[in-house]
Amino acid sequence: MRILLANPRGFCAGVQMAIDVVSQVVDLFEGETIYVYHEIVHNRHVVRRFRDSGVVFVEDIGEIPEGSVVVFSAHGVSPAVRAKASARELRAIDATCPLVTKVHAEAIRYAKRGDQILLVGHAEHQEVVGTRGEAPDAIQIVESPEGIPNLTIRDPEKLVYLTQTTLSTDDAAVIIDALREAFPNIKSPPSEDICYATTNRQHAVRRLAPEADLTLVVGSKNSSNSVRLTEISENVGTPARLIDDASDLDWNWFEDVSRATDRGSARLVSDVKKHADKAPTAQSSGRWHGMTVLVTAGASAPEDLVAGVCRALLERLGGTIEQREVFSEDVEFNLPAALRKEMGRRGLTPEPARIGTPRITRELYGGVPLTVSCRAGPE
Ligand code: SF4
Repeated sequence: MRILLANPRGFCAGVQMAIDVVSQVVDLFEGETIYVYHEIVHNRHVVRRFRDSGVVFVEDIGEIPEGSVVVFSAHGVSPAVRAKASARELRAIDATCPLVTKVHAEAIRYAKRGDQILLVGHAEHQEVVGTRGEAPDAIQIVESPEGIPNLTIRDPEKLVYLTQTTLSTDDAAVIIDALREAFPNIKSPPSEDICYATTNRQHAVRRLAPEADLTLVVGSKNSSNSVRLTEISENVGTPARLIDDASDLDWNWFEDVSRATDRGSARLVSDVKKHADKAPTAQSSGRWHGMTVLVTAGASAPEDLVAGVCRALLERLGGTIEQREVFSEDVEFNLPAALRKEMGRRGLTPEPARIGTPRITRELYGGVPLTVSCRAGPE
């Protein structure tokens, strides 16, 4: 088996910053219970690891005892949540990603000048709930082109669209085209709202998935950008599976891909039957030599889980790893001002959250990869 390890994958600067915030807050306020409003990032393992260290996650500010320390998650919150926290005299540290804050600022600005805002995104997603809360009377959510006829438009000349940061660029383009067709004078935001991390990870999958028989996306089911990566892979014809970690691997997927590849098609059999006795093992790995699996991860998935997946694949099926570098990311976000101030007061120097390329060792990943740069032309 050949593993293609997509780069970039996994943590973005916003997620790294949010995780650093909670870690710092836990250290700074030792002995106090730290509350986090909503999952700090949408990853089961990240949340569990913090929960194990005593952090309490809540979905209602009213559950937090007055005067406590609360961290707002990377997805952002509405002014109503801030007001509720303030009314309870909570000491709030805001870990909202700056790229989400940018969309909030746009919503406030457009609403102030009397525009109606069409926010392209998933109505139930925490980020969209928070952005909409900035100007609820001015914002309507558009989830698909089919929803456009149901919009209430006062003046088609005073319309602007914004987007959730973690949408599929393909899906967003379809909805935006439909909006432009319905409202030719609709304005666009001054710069793209879909963030650099979402765009880069999707480009990498679009570029690499055609070489693979199967794509494995490490991420949780409630992670919007992780789900979008599976869709992008499927859109270019390569079946994809979303897994939280190596324990979610179903070896029958590889059996089915192998059979499909033998028949000249890389498509997975949609209704996977459980034939545990036929699942591949290292002893039968000869069959898997011709198989290529693309491994990537959503922006909230820790790299140690990616390493665990690679290790499990190589231990069971044998093979090699190639790291394919489509983009090299060099983005860092500062810690929130309130946290920097608190650290400064205690004589600590805040470091920005920075993402580097992971060091891949045989011990962690099951093999040492050949790194192949394919940066010329993202598509
Ligand atoms: S996915 Fe994008 S918007 Fe979301 S936290 Fe990461 S950088 Fe920020």
